[in-house]
Amino acid sequence: MQIFIYIMIFVFGLVLGSFYNVLGYRLPKKQSIVFPSSHCPNCKHKLHFIDLIPVLSYVLLKGKCRYCKKKISIIYPIIELLTAILFTLSYYLYGFSINFGISIVFSSVAVIIIASDIRYLVINDEILVIGGILIILLLGINGDFKKVLDLIINGVISFLIMFLIKIIADFVFKREAMGGGDVKLLTLIGALVSYPMSIMTLCLSAFIAFPYAIFVYFNKNDHVLPLGPFLCISGLIIYFLGINFNDLMQIMAK
Ligand SMILES: [Zn+2]
Repeated sequence: MQIFIYIMIFVFGLVLGSFYNVLGYRLPKKQSIVFPSSHCPNCKHKLHFIDLIPVLSYVLLKGKCRYCKKKISIIYPIIELLTAILFTLSYYLYGFSINFGISIVFSSVAVIIIASDIRYLVINDEILVIGGILIILLLGINGDFKKVLDLIINGVISFLIMFLIKIIADFVFKREAMGGGDVKLLTLIGALVSYPMSIMTLCLSAFIAFPYAIFVYFNKNDHVLPLGPFLCISGLIIYFLGINFNDLMQIMAK
């Protein structure tokens, strides 16, 4: 029975992941998420059900459009798989609980931001606001008003810290070193994992992004690096490992 639930949640993650691809692809371009129906971005051919099965279609079509044979971005199946894995992990850790709901919302926000920031260097405010409201609602329904207050306080302090870091970094590098979207994303992450851990998220993301940053520096002319996906990955690692500030201090003191 338990294995059946895991499979259902994994498949649910794949299907929602497929929808998050659409959101990540269309929201930054201010396109409707319903019309037009899914089509190949190259030849504009309408895609049928058989072309839209998460991951499976990509594998069966060997990563190429059925109609024009143009390569399909590997981002699509990665986003679908990532969503499925995060959902399954959420259930493994929290079972069916309020924390499961919060975990699903946070994973969804992170995945949509990864999908849009990689492509367009855009982090949509709507996604962050909807995610934040949903998390507060879930805690409210559960009567955890102290947690709601904690969340808001940690969010506000994270925002102030990140805003300060942005001002300093922009001044030092003499260009926009950290986008406004990154500051808002770290506000949500900080609200969830506490404000000291939002600083750790930023540090961890810089560490993870370093090899890619070197690649970008030597291979792309614009030298622009989307920070959002790395912040999301770091935030997810810290959130799912449940690392809190006190534990970290104790580990460091040893
Ligand atoms: Zn095509």
